[in-house]
Amino acid sequence: MLSVHLENGHVFVLDIPKPERPPGYALIRTLAAGICSTDLELQRGYYGFSGTPGHEFVGEVVEADDATLLNQRVAGEINLPCGNCSWCSRHLGRHCPHRTVLGIVKHPGAFQEFFTLPERNLHLIPDGIATESAVFIEPLAAACEILDQVRIPAGEKVAVLGDGKLGLLISQALHAHGAKVLQFGRHRDKLLIAARAGVETASVNATLPEAEFDFVVDATGTREGLSNAVRMVKPRGTVILKSTVHGEVAIDTAPVIVNEITLIGSRCGRFEPAMELLRLGTVRVDRLITDRFPLASAPEAFARAAEKGVLKVLLEGSRGA
Ligand SMILES: [Zn+2]
Ligand SMILES: [Zn+2]
Repeated sequence: MLSVHLENGHVFVLDIPKPERPPGYALIRTLAAGICSTDLELQRGYYGFSGTPGHEFVGEVVEADDATLLNQRVAGEINLPCGNCSWCSRHLGRHCPHRTVLGIVKHPGAFQEFFTLPERNLHLIPDGIATESAVFIEPLAAACEILDQVRIPAGEKVAVLGDGKLGLLISQALHAHGAKVLQFGRHRDKLLIAARAGVETASVNATLPEAEFDFVVDATGTREGLSNAVRMVKPRGTVILKSTVHGEVAIDTAPVIVNEITLIGSRCGRFEPAMELLRLGTVRVDRLITDRFPLASAPEAFARAAEKGVLKVLLEGSRGA
């Protein structure tokens, strides 16, 4: 089978044997998978990664212990917790210190024709969600995680900094929740996607409002994002850190202390709310897809995904075989 392999900054397509399915795992055929910023970072060698990436996927189950999964379209939670530690016993497997992570930490990902994942990680995709939209369930779940972490009243003003893929999912998810979202970005075409979804937008090049929001989400992926967010949040407000920046981010802690600001880190989320938003059509992701490539063209797909202004690039599996 075809398998994408990252090593030393290069993207290879190898021909390797189909993986063996351990008990309790499903063997999944990749239908479509999204290249996300994390995958580009893995390519650059962050986390010392070499191997097969891919954690935003839609697949079809071809082998499983649970017969009801067979031939079904599925998405899957990417964390594989140990199931035995104190974190796992508190249903916090996403923080299990022994976990592996699909396509990121010690578990081969979905950028190949077949891969395995524990059956308990899988979610059946409702018929109403197209395969290419369902690829966004995982990143949209990460956007929805904010609503599991902080209580944002309907009608509340929320600022979202950043107009990349994740920023555009966050602004739509918060807008669907009923918040009054103002999204700041530097790309007119990307902000237009948010505007068409009903989100109010503003250029980050304009003077940023100060101490005006109870909630500010930083999804910029830049070093300035956090300090801008701290400046924009009201005293006693909450800043949600949604983007990882590599290396250290310098920040003046005085305003955080003086204004008693809460900083919250936020990563992966539950799939259910994301699937519901896509099923209802309240979050639209079709405009976030810039390009599609077959798995065999993964090197071109990675190059495309790294170009400026490009949003989501999909890798598509071959049918049959
Ligand atoms: Zn991702
Ligand atoms: Zn554990």
